[in-house]
Amino acid sequence: MGGHPLYLEPRLAPRLASLLDSPGLLYTLTDALGSPLNVVIPEQTADNLEQFRSVYSRHHLSGQVFFAHKAGRSSALLRRLAATDAGVDVASLGELQHALGAGFTPDRIIATGPKNPDFLWLASRTSVTVSVDSARELDQLAALVGTYALPRARVLLRLSGFEASGVRVLSRRSRFGTPVEELGPLLEDVERHAGTVEPVGMAYHLDTTSLDEKATALEGCLRALEECRRRGLRPRAVDIGGGFGVNYLADGAQWDRYTTELTSAVLGARPPLTWGGHGYGLRSEGGTLRGSLGVYPAHRKVAGARYLDALLSHPAASLGGRPLGTLLVEHLYDLHTEPGRALLDQCGLTLARVLEVREQPGDGAPLLVRLAAKADDVALEEHGVLMDPVLLSRPGGPGDERPVAVHLFGSLCLESDLVTRRVVFLPRRPEPGDLLAFVNTAAYCMDFHVTRAQQQPSARKVAAWQEGGSWRWCLDDQYWPTTPVGVTQ
Ligand SMILES: *Cc1c(COP(=O)(O)O)cnc(C)c1O
Repeated sequence: MGGHPLYLEPRLAPRLASLLDSPGLLYTLTDALGSPLNVVIPEQTADNLEQFRSVYSRHHLSGQVFFAHKAGRSSALLRRLAATDAGVDVASLGELQHALGAGFTPDRIIATGPKNPDFLWLASRTSVTVSVDSARELDQLAALVGTYALPRARVLLRLSGFEASGVRVLSRRSRFGTPVEELGPLLEDVERHAGTVEPVGMAYHLDTTSLDEKATALEGCLRALEECRRRGLRPRAVDIGGGFGVNYLADGAQWDRYTTELTSAVLGARPPLTWGGHGYGLRSEGGTLRGSLGVYPAHRKVAGARYLDALLSHPAASLGGRPLGTLLVEHLYDLHTEPGRALLDQCGLTLARVLEVREQPGDGAPLLVRLAAKADDVALEEHGVLMDPVLLSRPGGPGDERPVAVHLFGSLCLESDLVTRRVVFLPRRPEPGDLLAFVNTAAYCMDFHVTRAQQQPSARKVAAWQEGGSWRWCLDDQYWPTTPVGVTQ
């Protein structure tokens, strides 16, 4: 493959960088526990929470940061958050049980998402706040509370389909939440169930990077709260969901160059950059570029807590143009957030051992590299996150520093088991036995898509922390907030 290597180097915060700087430990761990192997870093999630908290302080806002459990299954990360003042947003019976077992008290838990009766029952039995998706779900909840003589249920009313000044619908369609135009009937329902449910706030969650869309939704919630007051109801929180995002890449210029070259490749103006000419949503029709790049914006200037800051500073176009954060403060409303991905930023990595490196016929054709991991164990591709793995030098390994282009395959007996459809450039040729570290996989990647296909093992998970200048670790489910201290005693 001619030309310069097109790297997409991951952004590495100091902890992840330090862990990658300890290849001896990572080789020992995979020797002992197998490949693939997930490593999580509990201290990092506590730091990420602090960043959200400092944005709350800067805007003088009260309210809770609820970690969206959906993003990851690690017990260590959840238990570390339980030792902070964070809350947790659970979206299944299992997640609720996990959160209760990790030490979250019900006042720190919100139940969201699609709910079956068992989930609703345990949530209301324990007085967890329920983010109600529809009038139907509200009726269901009210019936449960009545039937089982449960405490009055605290509910957030999740809305969707917000409009900007009646011009056009600015927020995308969602299958969750009550459409805002049905707010009136929903509130009548709330009033009818006054003995069994207590409305505590309005909610939305939009899976978008657009600040305008989110601002429109927040304004919609503020208007809905006004409508509640008019009716004598007293909810006083806005839950703006998650979707604050992560900046995955170290270098915005690499991202720009890569996407430009990918476009050229789709148009046939340079050698392919993907397996089978896949275009990530782009295609060429008679030499004209069509479609749009359907991937995660891997390099983001504003993500995570800074995105929240930007949203709160955003003018409320339909409410006099003052910043949204100011309006929340003036009304003494609580702001709830549900970051998933952003709270797990830099909180983990997935290690995979190289099993085979094969040449392809053709001058400069990418090497075929097979890993001891399935595509689903990494799942960056599943989320459209384009980012290179880090090739870890085996202690005492070879030092030939010539870049190579590779295709990364998983271990399934399946043509489609590609860890990524991209041609990946590595700074040197990998050898069987080498480790590749896919970093920043704690959110949605390392355990969301895991299968036991072909009876292959699913990755084990360990939690790691720094102590006196070196890294210590334990199995993920052995980690408790007391662990790092406990082992030194
Ligand atoms: C998925 C989800 C979140 C978290 O989204 P992120 O993009 O991971 O921040 C929060 N709230 C709800 C209701 C969700 O469905």
